[in-house]
Amino acid sequence: MPRFVIVTMLEDGDEEFVHIRNGIEGSDYVTLCGLDGGVSGSEQSSRPASKNAKVTCRQCWGIWLACRGLKTTDFKAE
Ligand SMILES: [Zn+2]
Repeated sequence: MPRFVIVTMLEDGDEEFVHIRNGIEGSDYVTLCGLDGGVSGSEQSSRPASKNAKVTCRQCWGIWLACRGLKTTDFKAE
């Protein structure tokens, strides 16, 4: 599974951003920032991005920055 995905917003003039893939199995969302990438409708489409792709989604980048400093000993997880 690629770590990054390019999502095209078909209703917004084909604007594309590189997002961090949501790696949660069974999730309806393709990206960390909550886009479905076309899973539930035709307003978006998605395709894998290259391994070294530059993340251009500010929300995905912000989530990564917020989480990267956390350790599993900092909280209780399910
Ligand atoms: Zn994103």
